[in-house]
Amino acid sequence: MSSVTCPHCKSRATIRSSRQLTALVRETYCQCQNLMCGHTFVAHVEAVRTISPSATPDPQVALQISNRVTETSTKQTPALPALVG
Ligand SMILES: [Zn+2]
Repeated sequence: MSSVTCPHCKSRATIRSSRQLTALVRETYCQCQNLMCGHTFVAHVEAVRTISPSATPDPQVALQISNRVTETSTKQTPALPALVG
């Protein structure tokens, strides 16, 4: 099951449900799994940039192209950060 980090106690918080707000943003309802915390909260998952372009692009969706795609150099790119665990 998808999870995020609780902003208060930094424990794992489970995404219990979600709904699509826009083409780029999904609202998720999260519940901290630390019984001593018990925080429930809303978080947004937002697509912010393109790494590899879509083969079936939606013309309404305009995302910034990642440097990883536009750079022609062969220098190392950093590993992708883990957004959800
Ligand atoms: Zn917590």
